Amino acid sequence: MVKKYPIERSESEWRKKLSDEQYRVLREKGTEAPHSGKYNMHFQEGAYRCAACNAELFESDQKFESNCGWPSFDDAKEGAIEYVQDRSFGMIRTEILCANCGSHLGHVFDDGPSETGQRYCVNSASIEFESKSQ
Ligand SMILES: [Zn+2]
Repeated sequence: MVKKYPIERSESEWRKKLSDEQYRVLREKGTEAPHSGKYNMHFQEGAYRCAACNAELFESDQKFESNCGWPSFDDAKEGAIEYVQDRSFGMIRTEILCANCGSHLGHVFDDGPSETGQRYCVNSASIEFESKSQ
């Protein structure tokens, strides 16, 4: 059974809407090279939205410097994330998807440094930053 999301598009529609790198990460569950993403060292105040469907996923005060090479958050907007067990590459990890459109964001690990204990490790290609308007 294929899960239905509030936002559904065909793969050819996604391909048209997204850049090649965004498509590879969001729709083919790719991973960008560490330290390569535009939001890795980005710490302005605002919100991070799904690059595919524009749903709000993270707030800048949830972001922290993890030194892992990808944008990292210690929490996410409630209900915005879908969690799926991922057994690829011989590991058991938790994949994170946009709950609104099912696009791949990254993985979440339970070794975070803050009180949530979580480290959401997200590809820059999966998110778009929106600055807080003054
Ligand atoms: Zn989305």
